[in-house]
Amino acid sequence: MLYLVEHFYSIQGEGKYTGTPSLFLRFGGCNMKCEGFGCIETSASGVDILGCDTVYAVNKEHFSHAWKEIKQTEELLAILDLYELPHAVDIVLTGGEPLIYANDSIFIDFLNALYEGGHSITFETNASLHVDFVQYPVYKECIFALSVKLSNSNEPLKKRVNGAVIYSLATHAKEAFFKFSIDAESINLGLEEEINDVIMHAPQTKVYCMPVGGNKEEVEKNTEPLIEFCKTKGYNFSDRLHIRIWDKNKGV
Ligand code: SF4
Repeated sequence: MLYLVEHFYSIQGEGKYTGTPSLFLRFGGCNMKCEGFGCIETSASGVDILGCDTVYAVNKEHFSHAWKEIKQTEELLAILDLYELPHAVDIVLTGGEPLIYANDSIFIDFLNALYEGGHSITFETNASLHVDFVQYPVYKECIFALSVKLSNSNEPLKKRVNGAVIYSLATHAKEAFFKFSIDAESINLGLEEEINDVIMHAPQTKVYCMPVGGNKEEVEKNTEPLIEFCKTKGYNFSDRLHIRIWDKNKGV
């Protein structure tokens, strides 16, 4: 079953295409939990749930009221008509982890329709799940923001780093770039080695590092140490504009 949590038209807030007007579709479900990011969201029943900054799109048990089951491709396509969009606007598919639906026929039909409509399609993915570029060639036309999780996510290494998947996404897609979420404390704890162990699977791929944080205060706390880290390593610093401007990650 395919679940959508929210959609909104905004600017891309992070990564290579920061500032680009984009229609976001946030799909529900993820193969990880990333409790190490330490973000807390209160459920409708008043329970504080620990996870990443989009825990409401990860934890169906506590946030199911926001999850809509999608039964037809047309339901997804109809979302584009809800906004006054410029022609062929960029579409960002995020989550949760959108690639948990990589083989879903509704999802594939949606991708094909977007591509035929001239849209640029970007996946925000944890880059741990296999994509079949042979069976579904539309994926070759997509951009992949490879947000591979580091140890600060508290996910096990085997689950968060899959070299074959990283290589495949970076090699077969039209474009890919790495995007890491980094907090100030982790910078002195062997992070450099961790990032090297990830990017070795696709060494030609550009690296963007952005500050961890589910709110403005956390993002600002992590920004300056991260800029210094990027300057040392030659990585690109990526802001998290949507959080800095709107102080939240939901629907803006
Ligand atoms: S992989 Fe991404 S969406 Fe999934 S739990 Fe981790 S940070 Fe959240």
